[in-house]
Amino acid sequence: MAKHKTHHEECDILVVGGGMAGTGAAFESRHWGRDLKIICVEKANIDRSGAVAQGLYAINCYMGMQWNENQPEDHVRYARNDLMGLVREDLGYDMARHVDSTVHMFEEWGLPMMKNPKTGRYQREGKWQIMIHGESYKPIVAEAAKKSADKIYNRIMITHLLMDENDENRVGGAVGFNMRTGDYYVFRAKTVIVAAGGASHIFKPRAVGEGMGRTWYAPWSNGSAYALPIEAGAKMTQMENRIVLCRFKDGYGPVGAYFLHLKTYTQNANGENYEKKWYEQTKKLVGEYIDHHPTPTCLRNHAFVQEVMAGRGPIQMVTKEAFQDPHLETIGWENFLGMTVGQAVVWASQNIDPKYTNPELTTSEPYVMGSHATCSGAWVSGPEDISPPEYFWGYNRMMTIQGLFGAGDTVGGSAHKFSSGSFTEGRLAAKAAVKYIEDEKAKNIKVSEEQCENFKKIIYKPLENYTVGRNEITGGTVSPSYFSPIQGLQRLQQIMDEYVGGISVNYMTNGNLLKKGLELLQWLQEDLEHIGAEDYHQLMRAWELKHRAITSQCVTEHTLFREETRWPGYYYRGDHMNLDDKNWHCLTVSRRDPKTGKFTMEKMPVYHIIGDEEKKKAS
Ligand SMILES: Cc1cc2nc3c(=O)[nH]c(=O)nc-3n(C[C@H](O)[C@H](O)[C@H](O)COP(=O)(O)OP(=O)(O)OC[C@H]3O[C@@H](n4cnc5c(N)ncnc54)[C@H](O)[C@@H]3O)c2cc1C
Repeated sequence: MAKHKTHHEECDILVVGGGMAGTGAAFESRHWGRDLKIICVEKANIDRSGAVAQGLYAINCYMGMQWNENQPEDHVRYARNDLMGLVREDLGYDMARHVDSTVHMFEEWGLPMMKNPKTGRYQREGKWQIMIHGESYKPIVAEAAKKSADKIYNRIMITHLLMDENDENRVGGAVGFNMRTGDYYVFRAKTVIVAAGGASHIFKPRAVGEGMGRTWYAPWSNGSAYALPIEAGAKMTQMENRIVLCRFKDGYGPVGAYFLHLKTYTQNANGENYEKKWYEQTKKLVGEYIDHHPTPTCLRNHAFVQEVMAGRGPIQMVTKEAFQDPHLETIGWENFLGMTVGQAVVWASQNIDPKYTNPELTTSEPYVMGSHATCSGAWVSGPEDISPPEYFWGYNRMMTIQGLFGAGDTVGGSAHKFSSGSFTEGRLAAKAAVKYIEDEKAKNIKVSEEQCENFKKIIYKPLENYTVGRNEITGGTVSPSYFSPIQGLQRLQQIMDEYVGGISVNYMTNGNLLKKGLELLQWLQEDLEHIGAEDYHQLMRAWELKHRAITSQCVTEHTLFREETRWPGYYYRGDHMNLDDKNWHCLTVSRRDPKTGKFTMEKMPVYHIIGDEEKKKAS
């Protein structure tokens, strides 16, 4: 242990994860906290980290209030509709009313925005999306964070939160290790903003073996955003609301620009419009939600999944018509070059020219996120001016642990934030964190050397397991006393896939399967004590897996608790196939007791703060 040097840092605001939300948090912390010490810690390198690493072709959340294109209320209605009625409207409204100012700053900082030549406004891709030349999106926002923070630490994975020994419900910082040097880092902090992205690779992916990294969601997003607060005892919400994406097969290239801008459409193998065929069947499951406009994302997935199960796949995107127009053809390809080069490579390797061949689509394995068409994450306080009492406990975006804030994929209940909304939420959390410090809520935090040393022992244990156990290797990599991170990951993925509703069971699960899944996850947790890491990279893999495993437990507990099928197309409870508004028009909230490891579940009310459009017109 002595060989791992310990570094100590003290700061006012510690930002964990320098993706979209983390860079927003670092930037805004400095704006309100001129004299505060602000540190951002990132697992990769903030210039190219997070889900936006490769760049984006569109900013998916922009109101356009200056031109009266949309108002925040419209966005709340949109997100509520897409999530089958269940969102935190206070959080969504709060993000939406501030998101335009974020986008205007991006433009000032040099992000090339496409403009509509006729109107001079931002070029719309859809009602909420505006088009950008976004290859450099991430380096641009990273620069703002670098200029704002006192220090950015790259290549450090945060593994645990430090807790105040004077108040067990108050945060005191975080610890982690540098994946290149192996050094141990202790960050004592008055507030911590967790902005560590969502979770991929907890369910078995479609692409396995050498293609394993090819998932829709960033493969390096490992659920730290959830595991860190869960382990500390923070409450989580809507963790059952995993997301399944309909994307181009194998490369997971985005379909948004194709649908919205190129006006392409889908069909089954016989050239039929299959979605309308499933209308009556879907209506029996979810009632009038199928009549909503736009059709909720999960219900479109549902038609896709059912059509394939009925034997009429593959489902294709009809590109042959749009690609005859050279302008649209260029946009179709550029769309990939700006954010998913891999899709163009996949098509080249499969001899697919979308001008002559309609490419196949697929539905992905499920992911856990809080910023896309899904809203899993931490249960946080809303803003004081609009949140009802159950949703407000003092500081915007503060979790149920004092001084612990969240933003972006970390925060539950507020879907459709995307890149701009996540950055905005980081700003909101940072402003509240500064206020928390100014209000002197962070006084007398005690984090002893003993607490830090204990974590150090725990963090490096996988290296020790390997060093001792390798002497017993019987053949190849097989050891009786440890297992490798990849072996553990595949075991986790199989459990989640088969028992919690992954691809190989067409997203189907039930109470009995979930209970069995929980049992198997518990045994996996026990075995994770024996995980072995041969180097610092594998040590990171070991901790990524541990964070994925605890996130998976939480997802499974939530899925068991909600006895209905709220989002067919994302997952199905075979024993409760219908949407049940009478009993389940509510948010689910969990808490894991840090001492016992047991989860407790509760229902929280959904408040519809924003009225319906029809009612608004009538009044
Ligand atoms: C495939 C895909 C396509 C998308 N397309 C669009 C689009 O076209 N338009 C749009 O507006 N939005 C899009 N989004 C959404 C957008 O990317 C996300 O909403 C946004 O990135 C979420 O921000 P975040 O900060 O929560 O997570 P991220 O931006 O992913 O950042 C999380 C950061 O935390 C770091 N981290 C993780 N764990 C740790 C740890 N333990 N310690 C330290 N650091 C850690 C990660 O390395 C990462 O840098 C897309 C997302 C995906 C996945």
